[in-house]
Amino acid sequence: MSLFSYAKPRALGEALRLLKNGTIAIAGGTDLVGLIRSGLARPEGLVDLTGIDGLRGWTREKGKGLRIGALTPLADLETSPQLQKLAPMIAQSLRDAATPQLRNMGTVGGNLLQRNRCWYFRDEAVPCWLKGGTRCFAAEGENRYHAILGAAECVMVAPSDLAPALIAYDAEIEIASSIGRRTVKLGQLFVTPSGRQRKEHSIKKGELITSVRISDAALERRGTFLKAMDRKAWSFALVSVAASARIKDGKARDVRVVLGGVAPVPWWVPAAHKLLEGSALDDNSCLAAADLILASAQPLRDNGYKVTLARELIRRALRSLVA
Ligand SMILES: Cc1cc2nc3c(=O)[nH]c(=O)nc-3n(C[C@H](O)[C@H](O)[C@H](O)COP(=O)(O)OP(=O)(O)OC[C@H]3O[C@@H](n4cnc5c(N)ncnc54)[C@H](O)[C@@H]3O)c2cc1C
Ligand code: SF4
Repeated sequence: MSLFSYAKPRALGEALRLLKNGTIAIAGGTDLVGLIRSGLARPEGLVDLTGIDGLRGWTREKGKGLRIGALTPLADLETSPQLQKLAPMIAQSLRDAATPQLRNMGTVGGNLLQRNRCWYFRDEAVPCWLKGGTRCFAAEGENRYHAILGAAECVMVAPSDLAPALIAYDAEIEIASSIGRRTVKLGQLFVTPSGRQRKEHSIKKGELITSVRISDAALERRGTFLKAMDRKAWSFALVSVAASARIKDGKARDVRVVLGGVAPVPWWVPAAHKLLEGSALDDNSCLAAADLILASAQPLRDNGYKVTLARELIRRALRSLVA
């Protein structure tokens, strides 16, 4: 590990001034510290965001929706009874994310921007394509946990459980830098690594996520998050599904189904949402939507099971919206 500087600013403006080339932000450190230890991240300096109180906590104001500060610990969202009522998919997605200790340390911004868990990527000795090499070792190697959809040169999967849940609420994120602020749909944040883009998201150097926002209208949706895992704890999703819809007179409107664990980015198919518009979400229509979502699946040697698993999880998540 090489030497780096460390600063703990108390205000966002100060943090943004300190973020220069070679300097990166650290929040809970539950992902970044491991990456630094194993040489996969080599910052010249760390800007510790945990001293900025204004980025922590959540608020709900009529007309302004739900605002969650980027530095809010995952445990605070998971355990809040008010939030469980207001936006149940958030708590559901975090219940099985990592361990209670990691959820106490880990933050919303860090969870969204954590790096992928491909074992070749995490092994500092393997110079795979995403790290600047010429080959994806997973494509023809051990790929049980890798992508079945939407991959190009890199077959890793987006690891965050929170991201599909928030995207199913059509959430936006606010991003700040020393030249101003911008707001983007969370669904646009993630990037499929391909060609010159050897990266997982579109946050630029010097930018920080300050908050996540969900509109009042989106909070009226019903929602369900389901996650299939290899074991009960410490486990990333084999497949996760966040499904939401407005239900009126037993019919679904504005359906959104977002999958985790199947593609390099959280995955959704607008044509499937259209197919379900006005549907009673019976078994047949749920499975027809699942088949449409999975139609372009290209399983690798070891992960064909994900297609079957995803199909059934999509059915269950959608059915639960009218149960
Ligand atoms: C054993 C284990 C099991 C896990 N299981 C799961 C799981 O099942 N599901 C799941 O979703 N996650 C899982 N995780 C990941 C865990 O949730 C993340 O490590 C955690 O959420 C990261 O948050 P953090 O605040 O510690 O981020 P950090 O490690 O501090 O930062 C991660 C990245 O985000 C950047 N960053 C942080 N905050 C901001 C911000 N506000 N603006 C811009 N950049 C920022 C940092 O620069 C860094 O690049 C697991 C982790 C471990 C170690
Ligand atoms: S899936 Fe991506 S991260 Fe994993 S070996 Fe291939 S290129 Fe590297």
